[in-house]
Amino acid sequence: MTRVKNENIRVLLVDDTPANLEIAGSILEKEGYDLYIADSGVTALELIEATAFDLILLDIMMPGLDGFETYKMMRKFEKAKKVPVIFLSAKVDIESIVRGFELGAVDYIRKPFNEAELKARVRTHVELKKMREELELKNKSLQEAYDNLEITAATDVLTQLLNRREMMRRLEYERVKYSRNKRPFSIVLADIDYFKKVNDTYGHEAGDDVLIAIAMVTKGCTRKADSVARWGGEEFMLLLPETDAGGAMRLAEKIRRAIEHHTVFHGEAEIRVTITLGICEFTGIGFLDELISNADRALYRGKAEGRNRTAVYDGS
Ligand code: GH3
Ligand code: MG
Ligand code: MG
Repeated sequence: MTRVKNENIRVLLVDDTPANLEIAGSILEKEGYDLYIADSGVTALELIEATAFDLILLDIMMPGLDGFETYKMMRKFEKAKKVPVIFLSAKVDIESIVRGFELGAVDYIRKPFNEAELKARVRTHVELKKMREELELKNKSLQEAYDNLEITAATDVLTQLLNRREMMRRLEYERVKYSRNKRPFSIVLADIDYFKKVNDTYGHEAGDDVLIAIAMVTKGCTRKADSVARWGGEEFMLLLPETDAGGAMRLAEKIRRAIEHHTVFHGEAEIRVTITLGICEFTGIGFLDELISNADRALYRGKAEGRNRTAVYDGS
């Protein structure tokens, strides 16, 4: 744990009796805390609204707003939602103690003060607060690291699209959803035409740029609910929830045309490519493997029929 200097710890002491403020105040000041003082609930609330405290020592019996009421009101301020509060009171009746803890106080100190006890309890709760804050911070950064890891594990490094593994997970999710609601969904497999020639002509790096560009154009054509993955080397897969083959056809054609009209600039080279797409709508029969191989069949029919086109799986 990092030690925090007492001068950086803001403590608020609330008591209506000047003698108490003086005694407790001088003890806390000797300890070096950055001490604030309030002689009523109302003054305390004003200070609490304006300042972030690390600890509040709150007298129970006060004219006007008593300690319990002040406590309830201060918790409404964002700044004071988590600040530890220690109640101070000459009342040693058990009900008051219990009520204080029930409200959410962290401790209870009896008056008249015992110097050693006051110091020890204040120090303990200041340290506990710091430890809790550090733990929260560590938790947060751990969660962030975990989230990043999850994103990385689901992402294709080159194109930043989903990877094949994540797409399989989403396909499985859609299949399960289908068994409940029977709403159609479709997949589209897209493959770059004569991509080998791009590599051969312009080099592998240019080929990579083309892959990145096609990923961007494709993603740009889809809706938020759609998933786009790099399925293999120069193959992409789209998963379109709530979309039948007709809807998938319209989107596939939109993507095909967008790519056909897109130019990739690599060094001096201006590269144009086309893609061929195969569509299959899930009909609830068979496994995902079949859905995928049927989309693949459609894709290869498209290739055979001349490329730069979209074909829908028709059962053959
Ligand atoms: P077709 O129209 O029949 O699809 O012809 P094609 O040349 O696109 O198909 P083929 O399967 O013969 O070649 C695919 C090429 O894609 C070969 C491979 O080197 C290239 N490729 C696969 N992954 C990558 C990659 O990550 N980067 C680059 N630059 N090229 C890749
Ligand atoms: Mg190809
Ligand atoms: Mg291929």
